[in-house]
Amino acid sequence: MTTVLTLNAGSSSLKFAVYTSDSDQPLVTGLVDRIGTNATLKLKDQRGFDLPTKTDGLSTHQEALTSVLSAIEPELDGKTIDIVGHRVVHGGLWYDAPVMVTDEVLERLTTLEPFAPLHQPHNLSGIKAAKAAFPNAPQIACFDTAFHRHHPYVNDTFAIPRAYYDKGVRRYGFHGLSYDYISGELRRIAPTIAQGRVVVAHLGNGASMCAIQDGKSVASTMGFSALDGLPMGTRCGQLDAGVVLYLMDQEGLSAADISDMLYKKSGLLGLSDLSNDMRTLEASDSIEARQAIDYFVFRIQRELGGMAAAMGGIDGLVFCGGIGENSAFIRDRVCERTAWMGIEIDHSRNDAHEQVISTEMSRTTVMVIPTNEELVIARAAREFTDG
Ligand code: ADP
Repeated sequence: MTTVLTLNAGSSSLKFAVYTSDSDQPLVTGLVDRIGTNATLKLKDQRGFDLPTKTDGLSTHQEALTSVLSAIEPELDGKTIDIVGHRVVHGGLWYDAPVMVTDEVLERLTTLEPFAPLHQPHNLSGIKAAKAAFPNAPQIACFDTAFHRHHPYVNDTFAIPRAYYDKGVRRYGFHGLSYDYISGELRRIAPTIAQGRVVVAHLGNGASMCAIQDGKSVASTMGFSALDGLPMGTRCGQLDAGVVLYLMDQEGLSAADISDMLYKKSGLLGLSDLSNDMRTLEASDSIEARQAIDYFVFRIQRELGGMAAAMGGIDGLVFCGGIGENSAFIRDRVCERTAWMGIEIDHSRNDAHEQVISTEMSRTTVMVIPTNEELVIARAAREFTDG
């Protein structure tokens, strides 16, 4: 039996799970948060119960991983980690599927750091930490860009001088592991819809939408970076490039200032002046919080219309991510005024968070499917050992 460790390393966090080859239920899952400052380690067993942990001075991903390994040891029941699967944000033009990380692959992935400076370096730190901890275990990289790698040219390019396309300035799209998982679930639970035209709305702290035709991504709201498309917790979403030029020329902001503003101070937080957390905004009665939600909903509706147009129609709409899975209010708002797309919501099913939340009469089926990026990584890693 193979035992897989999945790792998702962010700037100051390390999310992990352990799977065995005979089950899609993780043995243990957890998260180290605030690495470098006031780190905490949360650990849950197979039944979702919290396990006791210790966290002293975790200032690097390497130290975080070491402490994770000693914390999970009792749960492994003598099993050893055979293979490690990693979430990696960018696979560039090279990778449309998971890959075993050799020195050459690691070198290639390092050259992509300028394409995703806030994520890629941390993902690679996770790989290096795991290589040091498990020198004999294969490391498998699973990419957020891979699912979108075969977009048609019109959804892959920007209308800027052609040379930049060849240099890799393209609409890559992200959240691919989530879309891959949802596609697989659709094939399993709703095969007819899976063969049709589906829009998946991954609405979490990061948010994007994907148009999927016959199981393949044909368009994504995210483009070159994970900033584009929908407004997010703290990211701006779609923005006229002229705004960036104005901020540089007239307001004297540097590239670093603008990056900080667009990634960390914009989106729901920037608009509401209150919070990046949808629960806080839903509970607030401030006008700014309401306007932030209105903007979020409006941009989703615009993209939904655009994606349906791109596919010549829509057969299914799927919500996932923290907001998509839990907020009946946002799902209801998104589906307002979409009767022209054949969408009719059953409010009691929506309030009960059922899997299908549209009415029997609805021409387009609307579903809620909890996403599971870790499981996509674990399955990919298992395939390497099985294969
Ligand atoms: P990430 O992109 O960091 O993985 P998640 O998918 O966990 O984020 O989503 C986090 C978002 O989900 C937050 O905005 C949070 O407020 C929202 N959320 C979680 N539960 C609810 C809920 N019951 N109602 C509304 N929003 C929720």
